[in-house]
Amino acid sequence: ALPIVAIVGRPNVGKSSLFNWLAGRRISIVDPTAGVTRDRVSTVVEHGGRVWEIMDTGGIGIVDVDDLSADVDRQIQLAIESAALVVFMVDVREGIVPLDQDVAARLRTINKPVILVANKADTEKLGQQAGEFCKLGYGEPLCVSADQKLGKDELFDAVVEKL
Ligand code: GDP
Ligand code: MG
Repeated sequence: ALPIVAIVGRPNVGKSSLFNWLAGRRISIVDPTAGVTRDRVSTVVEHGGRVWEIMDTGGIGIVDVDDLSADVDRQIQLAIESAALVVFMVDVREGIVPLDQDVAARLRTINKPVILVANKADTEKLGQQAGEFCKLGYGEPLCVSADQKLGKDELFDAVVEKL
């Protein structure tokens, strides 16, 4: 089986958007409001002589919009069960919120390599705000924009390096 790269992060940071962009088609449901229900979705990616499967772990099962941490619980469980590597996604427009700190703490316990990715860095100026995410304990974040399609090669290089 191919190694699985799991995209993990609180609802609405853009996991499904990133997934669809990397997949090159719209597989995962993108929703401006959190709490979409659907099955686990994954697609095969090839880069730098490596092949892996990338998985959108968000919004699986029934997501209770009043208890968003339940979604995070499921994501962490999936990552524990199947991921070789975790892409931990945050939202540069929102900055650090408590649920991000929750995810950061839980990922520390699962003993898998983590790449911190700051999405929604649509402009250079927004990218410059990403430094605060160092506080999460996963080093400098890698900036991407699923909307503007920025940062894919850098992300794939980082995956190849850590896989
Ligand atoms: P998920 O809950 O983490 O899967 O997030 P979604 O992919 O469903 O996206 C949540 C919202 O953020 C949607 O309204 C997206 O259009 C928006 N979004 C996703 N990526 C970007 C981005 O790179 N830039 C901006 N400005 N918005 C984004
Ligand atoms: Mg989603």
